[in-house]
Amino acid sequence: MARFTSMEQLRFLLFDVHRVEDLFGYERFAHLDAEQAWMMIEAARMLAEQEMFPYFKAMDETPARYDGKGGVKTHPQLQTIIRKAADQGWIGGYASFEHGGMQLPEMIFSTGHHLFQAANNGVEGYTGLSSGSAGLILNFGSAEQIETYVPKIFSGEWQGTMALTEPQAGSSLSDIVSSALPTNYGYYQIKGQKIFISGGQHEACDNFIHLTLARIEGAPAGTKGISLFIIPKFRPKQDGSLEYNDVYCAGDFQKMGQRGYATTHLSFGDNDDCRGYLVGEPHKGLSYMFQMMNGARISVGQSAAAVAMAAYQASLQYAMERPQGRPSGEKDPAKPPTLIINHADVQRMLLTQKAIVEGALSLGMECNRLHDLTHVTSGEEKENHHLLLEILTPIVKTYSSEQGSRSAALAIQTLGGYGFTTDFPVQQHYRDLKIMSLYEGTTGIQSLDLLGRKVTMNNGKALQLLGAKIMETISGALAYPSLQSCAGELGIELKRIASVVQHLFQFAQKGEIDRYLSDATVFMEMAGYIVIGWQWLKQAETAARKLVEKDFKANSESFYQSKIHTMEFFFRYELPHAAACEKTLLQDGNLTGIRNMDMFT
Ligand SMILES: Cc1cc2nc3c(=O)[nH]c(=O)nc-3n(C[C@H](O)[C@H](O)[C@H](O)COP(=O)(O)OP(=O)(O)OC[C@H]3O[C@@H](n4cnc5c(N)ncnc54)[C@H](O)[C@@H]3O)c2cc1C
Repeated sequence: MARFTSMEQLRFLLFDVHRVEDLFGYERFAHLDAEQAWMMIEAARMLAEQEMFPYFKAMDETPARYDGKGGVKTHPQLQTIIRKAADQGWIGGYASFEHGGMQLPEMIFSTGHHLFQAANNGVEGYTGLSSGSAGLILNFGSAEQIETYVPKIFSGEWQGTMALTEPQAGSSLSDIVSSALPTNYGYYQIKGQKIFISGGQHEACDNFIHLTLARIEGAPAGTKGISLFIIPKFRPKQDGSLEYNDVYCAGDFQKMGQRGYATTHLSFGDNDDCRGYLVGEPHKGLSYMFQMMNGARISVGQSAAAVAMAAYQASLQYAMERPQGRPSGEKDPAKPPTLIINHADVQRMLLTQKAIVEGALSLGMECNRLHDLTHVTSGEEKENHHLLLEILTPIVKTYSSEQGSRSAALAIQTLGGYGFTTDFPVQQHYRDLKIMSLYEGTTGIQSLDLLGRKVTMNNGKALQLLGAKIMETISGALAYPSLQSCAGELGIELKRIASVVQHLFQFAQKGEIDRYLSDATVFMEMAGYIVIGWQWLKQAETAARKLVEKDFKANSESFYQSKIHTMEFFFRYELPHAAACEKTLLQDGNLTGIRNMDMFT
């Protein structure tokens, strides 16, 4: 069996670096212990290995495809995957006992999903969407809505989706025009078109619950006039039977990657008989939806890291088996060729992947832990966890998807010409990964969110909290001689963020908002390197402690040493890119000279 991830990494991140066991001290998670948690992860590994990974290539070669009759044909294995994942609790396991869940911390729930994402990332999308949409109903829906929809979604019989995008409203959700006309019967009459809807009306589920954004007639313009509706494909009647709700799948999109994952065009109310059920209060839909979108953004980042991990593992395996050429100093052609992993440049490509992937995974776990802590703490503590999570969300999404793409490209490069062929999976990983920097808000939009909103929110408190957390890790790392130099370096890198923010604020204060935000993506790139540097120092500190305390099993000393070496690699080869970003960001003057419509000749 080919390896698509590393259980040692998951264990290290979950238990040693991010200390999931601390959570078991809170009442919500007190029913769990480390052994049980790991048993669940092992069960997810088996499910991924047996039911998902063997179909990874086949689902690419026979993609989900519109059947011409309002539905999407999917691979026959999909239904088995969704039902088995549901049975093990990987759709509803995060929910509380009273709602049929297992009260799993996000740290454990997401680690299970990592295994699915690395094994066959498109199919994980179906279960992830269902989890998120049921969560939205649980948080903002009525008791009746919860009772009607959530158990069926958790069981995998019904598929949940998120339906936001319209042909004219992609990044700009304020331009949504789907309409909702109030009736006297407790529902709204819906009309509209939604495009790019993932997991839409396929054949592996019996019903589809579209969490849809629409505008109630007469609502204010812009984002303040958007409401959230539950729109089932088949609406449940009082007697428990289902009737068609006038939600038609008008077509699908064929894509360069994630080809097993249906992407649909939905048409609501062509026959004036589409009923939508309002969730929560009118006009608050976008703020409710942001809860699902924030979770989905972190999850997309984690998915990108998982796919890049699978590509790294495939290229590592190849490099350890492929003989080619001789060491640079060896001139004798009679000598047998060496394995390519012995070439310095191949080692560079593998280590770059390892540094990106394991750094991104650690940041994903940091976010999961913050998510869990916001659910079990209160007052200022809760608020601080929330603010930190807010500022890290666009970073985990963007670093993992942008650098994950670069990492998967290096996986192809490691294989040479074979990497470009369909005989090996790395080209599929590369194609699958590209979507991650596009959906759930493009990199451009995430960067505007980071610099325009998260950096300034609560008078900069989120950024201050992040700086304090990074300083805490630096102080801890200074206790270990082997980490002192990198710890000092991270302190210098951290100051880059402060100096750039101070420089850019001048423009914001003068009301030059366009200028303030024009290089938001470069700022994001710089922040990404520094935040991942923090995650590497954190991992290295844990490894150094284990080595000093000799707290490891006989054969795992080299694992901890490799953590310290990979951190050193990251600091030497990746982190210096932050200084180049800073140089660009600190350039004076306005940009009209070099960003001018006349340039596009
Ligand atoms: C495979 C797939 C699955 C999807 N799944 C779903 C789903 O399940 N549900 C759903 O609702 N949607 C879904 N989407 C839609 C997805 O979220 C949008 O494609 C995405 O938000 C971008 O919108 P757009 O494609 O209209 O691009 P546009 O918004 O037109 O953006 C084009 C370019 O302009 C840039 N841009 C746009 N506005 C600005 C700005 N203000 N400042 C700077 N740059 C800007 C963008 O960064 C981008 O580079 C999916 C899309 C795909 C391709």
